[in-house]
Amino acid sequence: MTLSLFDLKGRTALVTGSSRGLGRAIAEGLAKAGARLIINGTDQARVKAAVGEMRAAGFATEGAAFDVTDEAAIVAAFEGFDKAGIEIDILVNNAGIQMRKPLVEFSSADWRKVIETNLTSAFVIGREAAKRMIPRKRGKIINIASLASELARPTIAPYTAAKAGIKNLTKSMAVEWAASGIQANAIGPGYMLTDMNQALVDSADFNAWLMSRIPSKRWGRPDELVGAAIFLASAASDYVNGQTIYVDGGMLAAM
Ligand code: NDP
Repeated sequence: MTLSLFDLKGRTALVTGSSRGLGRAIAEGLAKAGARLIINGTDQARVKAAVGEMRAAGFATEGAAFDVTDEAAIVAAFEGFDKAGIEIDILVNNAGIQMRKPLVEFSSADWRKVIETNLTSAFVIGREAAKRMIPRKRGKIINIASLASELARPTIAPYTAAKAGIKNLTKSMAVEWAASGIQANAIGPGYMLTDMNQALVDSADFNAWLMSRIPSKRWGRPDELVGAAIFLASAASDYVNGQTIYVDGGMLAAM
């Protein structure tokens, strides 16, 4: 049956930053396709609430609250998974932050925070996951990129640098780990309705610019990433490696 290609039953997915926003929508989508979930975020209470809601909806779900910029916490979380017999089959490196400031006003500390949260975290968590996937000879890694992986906009320079890095880190993961049965790909969301974009959603000027620029003439909904996520998490993409799939309402296709 063709649809069994997308079946995630028996697979466990760790989605970073999945207590809300795009990560939450991706996690729910993977759960609906059969995956067991591990929900992450920094805020313990928010992770606990999300786990409760997912369980109430009938999905097998655990929580693992840790900061993706805290290497010791990441290593400890993976050691905890090992002890509990939890094997991560699908890793979605989704946690990320945005800071908006003119480039001349960015402090080095803020630059580093954005790079560490959006880029270095994917390397460290990807490394810990891959160490365990390689001996098992299978694994799926999905990194969350952005339109900013391709294009710049004033005031988001560190984010743009980090997301461009995600695109090529994804290629590096693919070429190093493909022979071990691992596929690493990225999803590049366009402008999606989440907390991260509230300031833009609330700005009439930004909305006017976006609607003049985006072929679909609307913002994206978080659940619109689910199809690409299930594809990249499942056997349907077993020979797809190192790619970034943009889910952007046609934004990158337009002049
Ligand atoms: P939100 O701000 O809505 O949600 C961010 C999530 O990440 C929350 O669950 C948050 O949990 C978690 N998080 C933030 N920092 C950390 C950290 N240091 N460690 C662990 N978890 C963390 O963001 P979005 O859902 O909008 O964005 C998700 C990803 O998608 C990001 O990588 C973003 O760059 C990317 N993206 C978003 C787009 C959009 O239009 N929204 C477009 C393109 C890409 P908590 O606060 O509890 O820590």
